[in-house]
Amino acid sequence: MINDSTVEAFESSGGVKVYRMPVEAFPDHITNCYLVLDDTITLLDTGSGWDQSNQDLLKCFEVLRSKFNEKLSLKDIQRVILTHGHIDHFGGVNWVVEETGAELGIHELDASVIQHFNERLLSSTHGLRHFLNHSGMSRHTVDTLLHMNKWSKDTFHARNVDFTFHEGQILDTPLVSYHTPGHCPGQVCMQLHDILFTADHVLSRITPNQAPESITRNMGVGHYMESLEKVRKLEGIRIGLGGHELAMENLSERIDDSISFHEGRLEKTYNLLDEPKTINEVSLGLFGKREDYHVLLAMLEAGAHLEYLYERGRLVIVNIEEMEDDPDLAPLYRQAD
Ligand SMILES: [Zn+2]
Ligand SMILES: [Zn+2]
Repeated sequence: MINDSTVEAFESSGGVKVYRMPVEAFPDHITNCYLVLDDTITLLDTGSGWDQSNQDLLKCFEVLRSKFNEKLSLKDIQRVILTHGHIDHFGGVNWVVEETGAELGIHELDASVIQHFNERLLSSTHGLRHFLNHSGMSRHTVDTLLHMNKWSKDTFHARNVDFTFHEGQILDTPLVSYHTPGHCPGQVCMQLHDILFTADHVLSRITPNQAPESITRNMGVGHYMESLEKVRKLEGIRIGLGGHELAMENLSERIDDSISFHEGRLEKTYNLLDEPKTINEVSLGLFGKREDYHVLLAMLEAGAHLEYLYERGRLVIVNIEEMEDDPDLAPLYRQAD
């Protein structure tokens, strides 16, 4: 990931000023929040809520005053819109809303992440446990990964959202939402005249993490690829502004690169399965041996690509009869004949 912490100014073709406000959400992990200066002052995403992240947001306002001559402070934010329900983007929302009284909105499919945070986390953990228990990993490794996955439990206190949206214009703003599920169920891109806020859906260098839809609905490679096609069809976009990394003046190229990248990974996954393998073996074949949280990310990425191929009939499970007798057995996948 490219970490760049420069505050940058943009202006849409309709004359709306936008500032990129990068914050260090987690060590060495910069998230871009954006301040949109329309009739209403709107902040897109809030960072993680960790101390450094909040301090960085305040520092961005200092830069707005000293370098860009804006008479603005955090307190002026009237509305917060979240691009999706990942904690590096929404974790700061309690602090921002409590400091400002801003109204809060998010896509309808991610509203429960904010409103019922621990419940959503535990329910996805439930799906994750099933996935990992059938991945061919040892029970001990699965327990370690599940424990790791719950690190954010009790770090965020749930709050109500004031409005949700799906497709089209968001309230009275000039922002138009496009639902782009895949990386996250309620992921949206938002168009502001000739600017597209691409959130984590399209980034300047990397592509976002994938996870199987069997764990959480509306995630997975199939939705992600469809959502890339959807965004590529949008007309009149001059610049893409992502939730991480740099501004993209070549958005359609970046979309094509992201599609090719995942097509390549699907092909690699398929090629590994000339012999029967578990998800864990596919993950090792794709990414080698990983450590700590990266083991989980690699498993989810491998599982998402494998699921895509299996659901489209390109793979079969060779031990389905043994699985009938032992429901805890990990499926062995192989290329379909
Ligand atoms: Zn994300
Ligand atoms: Zn992100």
